[in-house]
Amino acid sequence: MAQNVKTPIYLDNAATTRCDPRVVEAMLPYFTEEYGNPGSRNHRFGWASEAAVDTAREQIAALIGAQPKEIVFTSGSTEGNNLAIKGVAGMYAKAGTGQTARGHIITAMHEHKATLDPCKRLQKEGFDVTYLEPGADGIITAEMVRKAMREDTILVTIMWANNELGTINEVPEIGAVCREKSVIFHTDATQWVGKMPTDVERDNIDLMTFSGHKMYGPKGVGGIYVRRRRPRVRLVAQIEGGGQERGIRSGTLNVTGIVGLGKAAELCKQEMDSDQQRLLALRNRLETGLSEAMEHVHVNGHRERRLPNITNISFGFVEGEGLMMAIKDICCSSGSACTSASLEPSYVLKSLGIGDDLAHSSLRLSMGRWTTEAEIEFAIEKITWAVNHLRDLSPLYDMYKEGIDINAIEWQNH
Ligand SMILES: *Cc1c(COP(=O)(O)O)cnc(C)c1O
Repeated sequence: MAQNVKTPIYLDNAATTRCDPRVVEAMLPYFTEEYGNPGSRNHRFGWASEAAVDTAREQIAALIGAQPKEIVFTSGSTEGNNLAIKGVAGMYAKAGTGQTARGHIITAMHEHKATLDPCKRLQKEGFDVTYLEPGADGIITAEMVRKAMREDTILVTIMWANNELGTINEVPEIGAVCREKSVIFHTDATQWVGKMPTDVERDNIDLMTFSGHKMYGPKGVGGIYVRRRRPRVRLVAQIEGGGQERGIRSGTLNVTGIVGLGKAAELCKQEMDSDQQRLLALRNRLETGLSEAMEHVHVNGHRERRLPNITNISFGFVEGEGLMMAIKDICCSSGSACTSASLEPSYVLKSLGIGDDLAHSSLRLSMGRWTTEAEIEFAIEKITWAVNHLRDLSPLYDMYKEGIDINAIEWQNH
């Protein structure tokens, strides 16, 4: 086994990242020294907090090519997606007669639940929703979106990079189709922002969701970009109260979190190129190492159009639960949704046409700013050992090796 590795190792950076210590340091004074409410307009505690929030707005705007005024702070991407999707639906809804819909929304089958569930809610409220089926490579193309467009389409919401696969949808091109048809375009860019170059002007974005804890910032804080001109996008507020964030999102600002998010954005901008190259090398090593050590190793999703830090791999002739148990030292995600009561294979993998068996036996391994080469070597050795061990115990794998066509077997039911 690889030496000098502290276990367990963390390969679940798509679920959340370690907060960068430089981010924590930037946040600390705002707990105990500069603890003013940025809404307090008549004393210096308020002004100091407001100035800190303004700085964070500028840091985020600089990362994504926006104007500071176009950033609305939220508690994260779940809230951001809800606000963007329900906020547009509320503002741009048509009368709807019961015969005709209140408007049409285009999304995709393998979006995050934080997009799918608001869309399902809107369906109950009289909107039509089209769930695009991705290609076998996991990609949503501009052409798919163009074909799904209707006279009454009011919103397209397509994520930039998929959180289970890392695959990258044709976002700038989808934005161009939306612009041409005067339809609002929202992208859930939670896995993208901070890791890949983003320019809301060049990339034709109207609304964009991002979250602190996916980009080495704190949990419970995030934001949405809301375009203010050409076109000006208006949203119905989902949280009402004190009128903060120009009335789009009320509630006392999470100043410490926002300062952390701003600092995280600044660091991501500075370190994007070097992080990207390092992560890509680690990811390539991991995939090559596993593929060379074993047969029946399948990388899911498009091989090139992918984030550098995520890989999703299925291992044939292995049972998913057993695999997770055997690699307890490696913290990662599995294609089996073992968080729910039922053992359903991932709906994301299923949407690509991947069978239940391979979906169940898949791992999502996602690297981050602190992942080391030694950890990757450890992961290769450990996963190879576990897969080989499980295959040794597998009657199916025995049969396969003896040349029996497993799919042709008629299993006897009792
Ligand atoms: C993590 C994630 C979310 C949810 O973000 P929170 O800030 O945790 O609410 C939404 N969409 C995608 C693509 C994600 O990866």
